Amino acid sequence: MLHEKKKSEETDYLEPIFGTKEEGSILPKYRLAQQSIEPRVAHQLVADELLDEGNARQNLATFCQTFMETEAIDLMSQTLEKNAIDKSEYPQVTELEKRCVNMIADLWHANETEEFLGTSTIGSSEACMLAGMALKFAWRNRVQKLGLDSTKKKPNLVISAGYQVCWEKFGVYWDVELREVPIEQNEMTLNLETVMDYVDEYTIGIVGILGITYTGKYDDIKQLDHLVEQYNQTTDYKVFIHIDAASGGLFAPFVDPELIWDFRLNNVVSINTSGHKYGLVYPGVGWIIWRGKKYLPKELIFEVSYLGGSLPTMAINFSHSAAHIIGQYYNFLRYGFEGYQSIHQKTRAVATFLSEQLATIDCFDVINDGSELPVICYSLSTDKDIQWTLYDLSDRLRMKGWQVPTYPLPKNLANTLVHRIVVREDFGTNLAHDFIKDLHNALNELNQAHLLFHKQNELKTYGFTH
Ligand SMILES: *Cc1c(COP(=O)(O)O)cnc(C)c1O
Repeated sequence: MLHEKKKSEETDYLEPIFGTKEEGSILPKYRLAQQSIEPRVAHQLVADELLDEGNARQNLATFCQTFMETEAIDLMSQTLEKNAIDKSEYPQVTELEKRCVNMIADLWHANETEEFLGTSTIGSSEACMLAGMALKFAWRNRVQKLGLDSTKKKPNLVISAGYQVCWEKFGVYWDVELREVPIEQNEMTLNLETVMDYVDEYTIGIVGILGITYTGKYDDIKQLDHLVEQYNQTTDYKVFIHIDAASGGLFAPFVDPELIWDFRLNNVVSINTSGHKYGLVYPGVGWIIWRGKKYLPKELIFEVSYLGGSLPTMAINFSHSAAHIIGQYYNFLRYGFEGYQSIHQKTRAVATFLSEQLATIDCFDVINDGSELPVICYSLSTDKDIQWTLYDLSDRLRMKGWQVPTYPLPKNLANTLVHRIVVREDFGTNLAHDFIKDLHNALNELNQAHLLFHKQNELKTYGFTH
């Protein structure tokens, strides 16, 4: 962890610094040096620290964007100093944020007459906290009116066991029980046969996930809405749906327009997405939209001053740079609907190509073929006599710079170990060819190996999986 200073490590360093006065001076690693050093030297030292870091473009583990156009980077680096919360000082940033909220609300079929509202956040994690809090406050207001003692039991939130870790945090921070619906081998998404069994009077809401992080599959939100509609007709204790569309929210509207998962469904009250996933912005921006004012309790809305008046704010974070909002606006303006559509279609085509290639390799079972989110997930066939594990394969691929995470599936399926590849905009067919070539070489090497590193029954998380 960050506070740890390893005893065994050198705590000072001595650097030859390319013919400068500092050459030969000693710099402490874990406390401030007494004196300053020249910018060029500091720059070189920091750059050198990062030399053996993984290469982001070859990081097939992350959903986060690893490429932006130079024009976007230029705008973002010119606006790093603007604080997004200073609405009076930078009213134009506020205007651009508003435009983004409106564009996203439109993509998700929010209805003007219901008075949708939304905000940018730092990412989906912050957006999910807000969504969860809004559900909790709205639930409490509703049930108290119905005469329920809301303090008697811990409120709960129903979600598939394939949730992202931010929901676990939400449960702990806001004292809400996460009711996990186990996922089944044949579906690997929210189990619609059992989900409503988890709902009771203390349920603040149900979360549908558009693209579960483990495999990339979409929950069947339309059917979930149908079940909720039926349930709500039988009780005064209504329950509503939040959609965690961190990955799918800015992917599905462009490539799966016929998929009905958003505000077209009556019981979906809020949706979040990560601008830095398929919104194609570098890490640091997310979005949340509520379908109407009444789903965001007014206790959660605060006012900041804006051009002599005031403006509502509902994000948790206060100060942060406006650069990412500007990057998001640039992308929306630059690509338009068809631009996003064609980028995402190509990304999906690469995913499909990869999964077809993987399917021809007989030691793998493809679990997700990239036909929803462009995410490929596969396990080792259990009926083959294979001496090595997916951890060994990850190690081999790492030698060529590829980072492919290995981890067990969530509860219930935790005996299945998988590899997951997230295909992003910057992973073109050319790179996919290189990857497949390196994969075949790695498999050949493993099949002939005499010494393997990982036990065959090992089940740990290896690499970044969120
Ligand atoms: C990535 C992800 C999150 C967290 O999003 P950040 O933008 O990284 O904070 C939450 N939920 C799902 C389903 C995700 O894929």
